[in-house]
Amino acid sequence: MDQQPPSAGQLPPGIELIDTHCHLDMEAYHHDLETVLQAAAEAGVSRIITIGIDLESSRRAVSLAEQHPNIYASVGIHPHDAQGASAPVLNQLAQLALHPKVVAYGEIGLDYAKKYAPVPVQQAAFASQLRLARQLELPVIIHDRDAHQDTLHHLRQLSDFPAGGVMHCFSGDLDFARQVIELGFYLSIPGIVTFKNARDLHEVVREIDLRHLILETDGPFLAPVPFRGKRNTPDKVLHTARMVADLKQIPLSEVAQATSRNARALFQLPTETTRS
Ligand SMILES: [Zn+2]
Repeated sequence: MDQQPPSAGQLPPGIELIDTHCHLDMEAYHHDLETVLQAAAEAGVSRIITIGIDLESSRRAVSLAEQHPNIYASVGIHPHDAQGASAPVLNQLAQLALHPKVVAYGEIGLDYAKKYAPVPVQQAAFASQLRLARQLELPVIIHDRDAHQDTLHHLRQLSDFPAGGVMHCFSGDLDFARQVIELGFYLSIPGIVTFKNARDLHEVVREIDLRHLILETDGPFLAPVPFRGKRNTPDKVLHTARMVADLKQIPLSEVAQATSRNARALFQLPTETTRS
């Protein structure tokens, strides 16, 4: 039987994508998580990392990872919740992080756009969690909004991170991208790359070698075009991959293979895939 060749926008069979950053525990997915996961599998998304933002969501992330072979978890306290990063809470996160399906520490960092927590509180929570992640030998997932220089400063002060890390939802320019790469970190490209006005991000994707890039949705937030403003879901990472391929003028499968290889290396995911 002849197989139809995959159309330009589809992934050839056997080629996977990995959504390295999604918040599957959030209410946006409560009513139809199974459908969302099914759609992801059909789009070629073989693995999803669901991200903790506080103790409760970190627990939910681990429990989702326990229930689904293709889901992995990270644990940590988001800068919005920095006030909650007390020593007892960090101890509990450290315990949780011992779970075999916890593959990263985060998301942690600095958010000067919203400042839900005072800056000094954010900085203290960031620094103590960077140290904890290093003790746990986990890669770090960094959230940085309008705080590029302070984020770099913290990372440089505590250098080095043998387990590596990623600047999630990368939002800087080319110069900042190069500084992040110098630290040995990956850049995670979000759906924002499909937005017409994301010129800095377009330039970053064009100029930075694929070996430094991974992909994410940050679902339920930041859905790519043509779903902008709607709920984001892991299957939509395909649209982000397509845009990266267009910007670099290379085949979609090359983007999928390279970014999946990078994600597997960073998060030490097992190499077999369950995609059939
Ligand atoms: Zn996030």
